[in-house]
Amino acid sequence: MTDRTDEPLLLTPGPLTTSRTTKEVMLRDWGSRDGEFIAMNARVRDHLVELAGGAETHTAILLQGAGTFAVEAMIGTLVPRQGKLLILINGAYGRRMAQLSKVIGRTYVTLETPEDTPPDPAAVAAVLAADPAVTHVAMVYCETTSGLLNPLAEVAVVVAAAGRRLLIDAMSAFGALPCDAREIRYDALVSSFNKCLEGVPGAAFVICRRAALEAAAGNAHSVVLDLHDQWVFMERAGQWRFTAPTHVIAAFDRALAEHAAEGGIAGRGARYRRNCQVLIAGMRAMGFRTLLPDALQAPIIVTFHIPSDPRFAFEEFYDRLRRRGYVIYPGKVTAADTFRIGCIGRLSEADMRGALTAIRGVLDEMGVRVPVAAVAASSL
Ligand SMILES: *Cc1c(COP(=O)(O)O)cnc(C)c1O
Repeated sequence: MTDRTDEPLLLTPGPLTTSRTTKEVMLRDWGSRDGEFIAMNARVRDHLVELAGGAETHTAILLQGAGTFAVEAMIGTLVPRQGKLLILINGAYGRRMAQLSKVIGRTYVTLETPEDTPPDPAAVAAVLAADPAVTHVAMVYCETTSGLLNPLAEVAVVVAAAGRRLLIDAMSAFGALPCDAREIRYDALVSSFNKCLEGVPGAAFVICRRAALEAAAGNAHSVVLDLHDQWVFMERAGQWRFTAPTHVIAAFDRALAEHAAEGGIAGRGARYRRNCQVLIAGMRAMGFRTLLPDALQAPIIVTFHIPSDPRFAFEEFYDRLRRRGYVIYPGKVTAADTFRIGCIGRLSEADMRGALTAIRGVLDEMGVRVPVAAVAASSL
């Protein structure tokens, strides 16, 4: 975008490229009892609740750490020790919720579909009907493993109809895709400073139904990940329990103002959709194939099949692109042989075209032939 330097562009789902102006506000120190800092915290929290459409019903709790800290805090605080979770899984982030639920001692069952397949809301309804012990359902909105958009609104309807409570990992969606609490019924939603809201990494937040939070005192398995305690303390003192990531919050305050100036969720989502369209069209024109059909693709990150040409070595491809100033996601997480390129962060359509030019150049240097053959190896 306009504030380009010679730093590499991160085409990754976090840490991601942030604006120069967001980084610049970190060039000063704040005392945690400073009135200006306390006002900044309040402003950030109000802004998040407003973005979530939750002014009447929800509150925002800020938490130090990576996004997963907040996912663990959400599950540990909101699911009572006698509760039971149904976790919908179709990628690494759904699996991670199951893993952390096991470690913190929350009972759960899973409903798993392949990485290119969204859960069927009717199947969710069937599990809930068959298992009255399930109190909460947890799902990932955009499964960043593949870039798949899960049917959040449809699942939310089924969960509400069954009288259960919904917890959402909206990490890579909040700020760019709709999740308005007036339209989608949920008890809690997690996201981080450093995804679609384009803050710097180091903290995350949970948008939480106030009534659910009030009922959650004493549930948590952990002191530092107790959202109820973090909330009570911040409401009372306007401050964080434990050292606040002051610079990270200041940068986030600025990033939220830039999000609003871009047109909020609609404006940010429109830029990411353009980035995604340019990327997919350019890659397909070179002969690459996407893992997902367009109907399931979220405008966040795109997974491409690895070219079948044996001259394609991912590490070399990655390193050569890096030398040209583009950092893509360093490694595959899907079951299929793939690589991923992100569309989020401070990136424009022109940046995506620059990346495509660099990819073309690198393929030529490596002597790699695309199109990617669609024939199965077994038929050769
Ligand atoms: C990025 C991400 C997370 C959290 O990642 P951290 O590395 O803990 O910040 C969780 N879920 C999804 C869907 C994500 O995209």
